[in-house]
Amino acid sequence: HARRTHGVDKNVWVEFIQLAADYKAVNLGQGFPDFSPPPFIQEAFCKAVSGGPPMHQYTRAFGHPPLVKSLAKFFSRIVGHEIDPLEDVLVTVGAYEALFCAFQALVDEDDEVIIIEPFFDCYQSMVTMAGGKAVYVPLRPKVEGGAVLSSGDWVLSAEELTSKITPRTKAIVINTPNNPLGKVYKTEELQMIADLCIKHDMLCISDEVYEWLTYDGAKHVKIASLPGMWERTITVGSAGKTFSATGWKVGWAISSGHVLKHMKTIHQNTVYHCATAAQEAVAHGFEREYELFGTPESYFQQLPALMHHRRKKLASCLESVGLQPIMPEGGYFMITDVSSVKVDLNDQSTKDEPYDFRFARWLIKEKGLATIPVSAFYSPDHSKEFGKYIRFCFVKEDSTLDAAEDILRKFS
Ligand code: PMP
Ligand code: GLN
Repeated sequence: HARRTHGVDKNVWVEFIQLAADYKAVNLGQGFPDFSPPPFIQEAFCKAVSGGPPMHQYTRAFGHPPLVKSLAKFFSRIVGHEIDPLEDVLVTVGAYEALFCAFQALVDEDDEVIIIEPFFDCYQSMVTMAGGKAVYVPLRPKVEGGAVLSSGDWVLSAEELTSKITPRTKAIVINTPNNPLGKVYKTEELQMIADLCIKHDMLCISDEVYEWLTYDGAKHVKIASLPGMWERTITVGSAGKTFSATGWKVGWAISSGHVLKHMKTIHQNTVYHCATAAQEAVAHGFEREYELFGTPESYFQQLPALMHHRRKKLASCLESVGLQPIMPEGGYFMITDVSSVKVDLNDQSTKDEPYDFRFARWLIKEKGLATIPVSAFYSPDHSKEFGKYIRFCFVKEDSTLDAAEDILRKFS
């Protein structure tokens, strides 16, 4: 087998999705809503698949024309830059493919890519598969005489970040709202990163799949909207997360045409087309949201309002059993330190592994509750240091969260 498969074969999703299924666990593991997408988008999809031949055949390779147009229209208003639907937008098979195209198109052998920990795990393997070298900078909890209660307390040190930049640094990857922590980067934090990108001529790959999910007044800011950043940012999004339809696997990359054209080269030589009907439906979704933007009928207002309650519910549940949640400012997930739970993991064979992996396996197998170990979102060098947290997905039905609560109450 090829060398590029070395070191990227172990995958937390492959293991934990299977375990959750095998043990029929209450599933707060993999991040997907266990409720339906809103009716307007389901209807748009039904209409697309019951329509005439065009919706059942290939469409434009770089994105179904109605979808690239609606994405360009929608995001031009937000980025504050006129986005060209044909030059600056690429539709992909989920955000995953957009990320893959970005790394393949922009990272050369031995280029360095800075990744902020904790990070969505695929950045690491995608940089490696492109022949690049991942360089890590952790967000660190600032402890000022008290427990860390909010994802906002996890901060990036400008000095530490600067110290990792070398002449080989090609790009920095950011993820806001962050998976798994839930941090929503503030404008000042993004400006600090932007200043370094401009000073050192780096690209920024900004994964914003949870952009509509922010809580308690946290505001999502696009780094591409900061001065001088449009030209050097690739913004990645996901219809799966945007419209609660993760199985549709529609994603996109938005960037300046001179950067995006290289991603098109990868796309045209790998995936080529994405499913037409799903793109048609997502285009309708964005047209609707364009009209309703900022109103209470907008799904981009309704979903966070609904999830705000689920997030509170999960946080109260964790607190009531003596676990201290780190309150996420955005996204699908909440992490908590489990080192205080007294449990005999009884698994001598895997003692070398970070504690959270062993704990999360035990929780599925013995208690029937699926979560994800947070050290999966760290580089090997840091996975022990940050190996005591597990991640819960709260974008779930109330009944699912109730079932999880029943389990937690029984053993803690
Ligand atoms: N980035 C992040 C931060 C994610 O959490 C996910 C998982 N939804 C993805 C990218 C991949 O998204 P998609 O399902 O659209 O491929
Ligand atoms: N992004 C989702 C999560 O973090 C799904 C990951 C996946 O399916 N590979 O849980």
